[in-house]
Amino acid sequence: MRGQDTPALLETIAAAVQELVNTTQGEIAAVGFGIPSLIDRRSGTSVVAVNLPLTDIRFGALMAERLDLPVFVDNDGNVAALAEHRAGAARGVDHMVLIGLGTGIAGGLILNGELYRGWIGSGAELGHMVIDINGPPCQGNCPNHGCFEAMASGTALAREAQLFASVQPESALGHALRDGRELDGPLVTELAHDGDSAARDVIQLIGERLGVAIASYVNIFNPEMVVVGGGVMGAGEMLLEPARREVLKRALPPSRDNVSIVAAEFGHEAGMVGAAALALDGLAARQEQL
Ligand SMILES: [Zn+2]
Repeated sequence: MRGQDTPALLETIAAAVQELVNTTQGEIAAVGFGIPSLIDRRSGTSVVAVNLPLTDIRFGALMAERLDLPVFVDNDGNVAALAEHRAGAARGVDHMVLIGLGTGIAGGLILNGELYRGWIGSGAELGHMVIDINGPPCQGNCPNHGCFEAMASGTALAREAQLFASVQPESALGHALRDGRELDGPLVTELAHDGDSAARDVIQLIGERLGVAIASYVNIFNPEMVVVGGGVMGAGEMLLEPARREVLKRALPPSRDNVSIVAAEFGHEAGMVGAAALALDGLAARQEQL
């Protein structure tokens, strides 16, 4: 959906949901959305999205009007955390950090068994913690430099792959670059699985940076579990192993010795499952108020 303007993006989203509503049998009570955006829950506004044109949009109200159903909206990282907490890798875990490695990096926090959103709902932006003050400019609308997102997202992985391919032209990665192939996460992962050392080095570098970020979250939140999801996690243990090593080197005891760092159970469905949980919670809260 990148490259679209705001009205076209809203139209695409509303049309996709309407199609589902039309083809679903049975009654639909509400619609939940997880969007990659910073949200002000006081007004239900998407204030800014780093990677999408969703600036100052009353997303929930607009969708409720178009769909004529109750609508609940939260950040994509928050709903992914809800999905893993309710039905995925972190069932029964009340202190959990969720990291979603995709185009950007989504973050979600379950603290004391509850989703932690910050004062007005725009917190838990774990991808925008700086891990290198001299690092590259962050993506899209983020004014910072060297954010975790700028260093370890799928976008950063593709950038590093270009670099490694150009300095190691005889590697499989180098050949892929020469053949004009797009050096994205799935291709780099495939080449690494096949044993190409340049591709393996790229994934190890991203995994180490992931570990640098997790070490800080471990020190700050003392989570029982860190769940890592998103498209880049196609690389699985090739990413998590260097990340765990880095956490052991950098984080403080006793937190570092009492945390598990695991792959998310939900892939692309994390947003859907979490948004459904969000809508159920929202309806239940409304019932209580009545
Ligand atoms: Zn940033």
